[in-house]
Amino acid sequence: MAKRDYYEILGVSRSCSEKELKVAFRRMAKKYHPDANRDDPDAEQRFKEVAEAYEVLKDPQKRAAYDRYGHAAFENGGGGGGPFGGGGFGPDFGASMSDIFEEMFGDFMGGGRPRGGARAQRGSDLRYNLEITLPEAFFGKTATIKLHTAVTCEACSGSGAKAGSSPRTCPTCRGHGSVRAQSGFFTVERTCPSCHGQGQIISDPCDACSGAGRVAKERTLQVKIPAGVEDGTRIRLAGEGEAGLRGGPAGDLYIFLSIRPHEFFQRDGADLFCRIPISMVTAALGGDFEAPTIEGKKAKVAIPAGTQSGRQFRLKGLGMPVLNSSRRGDLYIQVDVETPVNLTERQKELLREFEAEARDNSPKSEGFFAKAKKFWESLGE
Ligand SMILES: [Zn+2]
Ligand SMILES: [Zn+2]
Repeated sequence: MAKRDYYEILGVSRSCSEKELKVAFRRMAKKYHPDANRDDPDAEQRFKEVAEAYEVLKDPQKRAAYDRYGHAAFENGGGGGGPFGGGGFGPDFGASMSDIFEEMFGDFMGGGRPRGGARAQRGSDLRYNLEITLPEAFFGKTATIKLHTAVTCEACSGSGAKAGSSPRTCPTCRGHGSVRAQSGFFTVERTCPSCHGQGQIISDPCDACSGAGRVAKERTLQVKIPAGVEDGTRIRLAGEGEAGLRGGPAGDLYIFLSIRPHEFFQRDGADLFCRIPISMVTAALGGDFEAPTIEGKKAKVAIPAGTQSGRQFRLKGLGMPVLNSSRRGDLYIQVDVETPVNLTERQKELLREFEAEARDNSPKSEGFFAKAKKFWESLGE
């Protein structure tokens, strides 16, 4: 199905201002609001269309991308790893609906947004999902990540004005972003029509960023992952998010860490667990073996004679490091006794001979079957 043009959806021209956009959006959102259109089944779809169009066009960067590439600008080809699932500036509608409603109703309720113009705007926070291995969580590491984001435009240092010129204070509102007008008995404050609330006018916009003060770029960052991090840890890198609009402060970057499950170590806080199969003979006679440790070393484990399957041995201080401390958890080795398979005739003969010699070698199973026998008898009577 062909997607409709965003400008057409909002009923605005391609050169409309941010203010005109907002007004058009409010008008269309009210018109198609599901609450006001209970008998029109198409209204909700329309409403979503309107919200999507505005979500893209209100962001100068997304709008520029849409102007250049159309809907193709937001068709995410995946690519993996990057913020919001990689590649491009795909609009994130799920998260942004609340912003849209705040924008719609915030002004009516007089809340939230500062008065007097938004000449600069803080950049968006970004999320980056990073998966590391358990040994990497043990040692800590410096990860190199690449993210598609917006950076401050170098050509204009973020001002949005062409080199050699600078934004000038709006003469209509003298930089306030709003003007007062007499309406009957009341003085009403309106957004300044000359600068659309910016407080400044860029008469000669920078070519590199079309006046936004920021440009799209792939950034490479080094992120320090401390030893002992846990699955689900969130690392905040202040100011490493999207650059602000027209010199506004940058957003933050959040690294969401996940730890890939390990082949044989399970983690519980600072402790590690590892299940190791041992032979029936080792279990019966006792012996020792070398257990792997998370740092890639070997730890000797001595098994006493008569070790039962499922028994745990604690290796103190061989677990994970505790974040921001020199303490380490423990490593628990659980042995699983392996019943021998693929027996030769000779081995079977030896085991039968062993069985013939048996006397009180399996107290648990003998005890169980003695109890079971009494149970059957009690019901038989
Ligand atoms: Zn620029
Ligand atoms: Zn103004």
